[in-house]
This record gives sequence, structure tokens and C-alpha cells, in this order.
Amino acid sequence: MLGSSPRPRTDQSPVRERYMCSAASLIGSYVSWTDRAGDGMRHCEASGHGWTCDRSSERFPLTRGLCKTHYMQQRRGRELAPVDLARSVADGGRVCAFSGCGRAVSARELCTGHYQQCVKGQPLSPLRKKRGNGVFRKMIERGIVECLGCGEAKPLAEYSLLNASGAPRPYCKPCNAERARLGHYKVTRGFVDLLLAFQQGRCAVCARPHAGGRAMDIDHDHACCPGPGSCGACVRGLVCNNCNLHGLGWYEALPPELRTFDLLDEYLADPPAKRLRAELALTGA
Ligand SMILES: [Zn+2]
Ligand SMILES: [Zn+2]
Ligand SMILES: [Zn+2]
Ligand SMILES: [Zn+2]
Ligand SMILES: [Zn+2]
Ligand SMILES: [Zn+2]
Repeated sequence: MLGSSPRPRTDQSPVRERYMCSAASLIGSYVSWTDRAGDGMRHCEASGHGWTCDRSSERFPLTRGLCKTHYMQQRRGRELAPVDLARSVADGGRVCAFSGCGRAVSARELCTGHYQQCVKGQPLSPLRKKRGNGVFRKMIERGIVECLGCGEAKPLAEYSLLNASGAPRPYCKPCNAERARLGHYKVTRGFVDLLLAFQQGRCAVCARPHAGGRAMDIDHDHACCPGPGSCGACVRGLVCNNCNLHGLGWYEALPPELRTFDLLDEYLADPPAKRLRAELALTGA
């Protein structure tokens, strides 16, 4: 990372590279500016705690790989921060550098919760919002409830009901489904985000860039966990739906002498999730 503000660092803390913990610096090193979004355009190189700059060269001229805002941050010797953070700094208030967090900065550009995650060496993930029952009840009365996952205010119809009493779940239907899916594979949102960055945002088999929208399929070893879910340890990688449905299942069912496809053999022999786990174990994240 760029910038040059020396900060005191305690040796006990797992925080590396200025205010980045190993998890965040891992994200930084996996995401390269060359075609990061898979759209054939150059993107601003600035990245940090759970954020990357999404400005592309098409709309924002890049200087030494950085958009103007980030280039100026670097020239002024500041630590790079998301563009909206830079704006809020100009307004006098500082918000957590984890994208979408919005809480006030407590230490090292992070809110208390994210700083705790950082110090523990965990991949940064959205914090659970605390909200009182009264606030939740008022939302239900108004018929618009803020989802604890995506943070969007959505009408009651977009929540499934918790029980016969008719109270909505605190997570909207898509967020609830995603939580159930991650639970099925026993992986955390943070791990999946790191894995996607580790795979450069691409399918681990065919390397097609992830287009957004539908999340990539989580592939696991059916020899370990034959059902639809996983024990967590046998998750192999993130693959596109096409490779998952029409590639891997078919290939793995072939007799061994017919399995002669290098691309798939390499993936199966040394899947990205395994490499990422090894690397995380090395860095103590
Ligand atoms: Zn960190
Ligand atoms: Zn930028
Ligand atoms: Zn935060
Ligand atoms: Zn949601
Ligand atoms: Zn694929
Ligand atoms: Zn398993």
C-alpha cells in the first residue's frame, strides 16, 4: 500500500502493513488492478480494508494507476481511504473504512467492531446491528423493515415469517437464503469474500469473471460430504453455475481412465480453498 504516515505499532498486534491486518492485506494482494472487475478496463489500484476503488479508466483518468482522488490522497502522504471516506473526512467526521459500515472511526481507520475483527486477525465482515425490540416493532408497524444483512429498508412482504405470531425474520428473503447457504457449507461470509478475491473474482475452473447478481456456487468434495452440504473443510472453491452443474459432477463421475482433462484435474488436485486455508494458517489470520 501507498502513503507514508508512520503509526505506532505494538508488536503483539497482528496488524501488518500500517493499519491493515493480515486478512485485509491479503485481500489487497490478491486483487490486482489489471482487469479487476473482469470488464476489460483498468481500474484504480486503491484498495484496503475490505474495499477496492471501483473507478475505471473509462470514466476516471488514472494517474500512476490511481484515480484523481486516490492519487491526491497518496501525494498528500495520507493512507488511502475509500472515496466517500475522503469526503467525510473533509466534512470533519470520519467513518469506518470497511465499506458500507458507516460507524465512526475508533482506531486505525476502523470502528470499534471492525478494529476488534482486525486485531483478532479475522477477515473483516459486516457487523451485526444491535437494535432494540422497540425499534423493530415500530418498523413492523410501519410495514417497512430494515434488513440486518443488506441494510435495505424493504416492505414486510420481502421477509418470511419467523413463527405463527407473524413476526418477520430480521433478514430479508435473499439475505436469509444466503445465510442458510453459507450455513449449509459451514463457511463464513468473510471466508467466501477472501476466496473470491483469491480467485481474482473468477470461476475456479473456467476462469470466467463473476458477473455479479447470483452468487457463485460453492463447490465441495462429495467424497467427503455426499449430501448437498459440506463439513466446511472440504469446500474446494467458488465455481460458476455452468461448471458446477455441467462440468464437475459429470467429470467426477467418469471412470478414472477417462478423467484426462488437465484443467479439471488441476482444480481437483489443488483447489483454491485449500491453498487459501494454507495461506491463512501461515499468516495466522
Ligand atoms: Zn484489518
Ligand atoms: Zn480510486
Ligand atoms: Zn466498521
Ligand atoms: Zn437483506
Ligand atoms: Zn466456470
Ligand atoms: Zn466434508
